[in-house]
Amino acid sequence: MNTPASATSDYGVRTPRVLSIDDSELMHRLLRARLQLEQVELHSSTSGEEGLRMALELKPDVILLDIELEGIDGFEVLQRLKEDARTRDIAVIFISASTETMDRVRCLDLGAIDFISKPFDMAELKARLRSAIRVHQLLRMLSQRAQLDGLTALWNRAFFDQRLATEVTQSRRLGHPLSLILTDIDHFKSVNDRFGHPFGDEVLAYFATILSSRRATDIACRYGGEEFAIILPGVTVANAAEIAEEMRKGFEAHAWRRHPDLVLTASFGVADLTMVAPTGTSQDLLARADLALYGAKRSGRNRVSLEGVPLAA
Ligand code: GH3
Ligand code: MG
Ligand code: MG
Ligand code: MG
Repeated sequence: MNTPASATSDYGVRTPRVLSIDDSELMHRLLRARLQLEQVELHSSTSGEEGLRMALELKPDVILLDIELEGIDGFEVLQRLKEDARTRDIAVIFISASTETMDRVRCLDLGAIDFISKPFDMAELKARLRSAIRVHQLLRMLSQRAQLDGLTALWNRAFFDQRLATEVTQSRRLGHPLSLILTDIDHFKSVNDRFGHPFGDEVLAYFATILSSRRATDIACRYGGEEFAIILPGVTVANAAEIAEEMRKGFEAHAWRRHPDLVLTASFGVADLTMVAPTGTSQDLLARADLALYGAKRSGRNRVSLEGVPLAA
């Protein structure tokens, strides 16, 4: 199965990353010394505020969190981690000198996955850390699977909707270009009718490889049926149109092993952020690309179109 580059980069086994948030330097030195031989990348922070910033930046698998911190305490750090979708899934192990059962209950209720009392036994801490890393990596894999399309292994529609919205916000903030390509296979219904549904599936899977084999930063998604979308951060509409044109040519040129005389084509619509109002949403960008795709279909298919106007074919 072909997995999109943007999915593999997060998918593979990376060295587990651990962030320790504790106001005691001694604790950090101890952890550094004792976790040296473990296969983990250890980062340290001495305050809750800094810890939250580092959590966002580093996306650690596990956070070792001290309850008794100056400034915002461990409970509040945990609460904020859980409130933010970007940090919600990080496994948090509380470390505290407190022996109060109520503190443990509160930690677990807030979403921590484990609790270790100070002073602790290093062997126990390592074992609990390994277990938290395992759980976190499994969860991450499962949540990514849920966002992938089963037939093409591209990102699915739910992922697309979310990601496009994020990219629109980010591109606006940074003043970077952002393009969107929408594409739809031409007369695909008749491919199914003539050659059968399994061959139709093969065509979809192959088309997906063409759409996802470019730069790792392009985000190829199956929008639904035989319709696909590629989000291109940092790319202007003129460049996106060239990229779409390469895709179009690649698909048209493909020789189908079981049907050597068959020529299949697809239509493409391209739009970028400059085409929507400064307050426009990701849905407005999608509507512009859809309009362009409609233009490509209406004017004869197998072409790339911008703003409903087909480029010279
Ligand atoms: P147009 O050029 O106007 O896009 O025509 P079309 O035939 O491609 O468009 P239409 O929307 O009429 O047909 C789309 C077809 O795609 C109908 C549907 O059975 C087929 N399809 C959707 N999802 C799948 C799939 O997962 N596998 C297969 N084999 N076919 C699918
Ligand atoms: Mg402390
Ligand atoms: Mg079609
Ligand atoms: Mg369609």
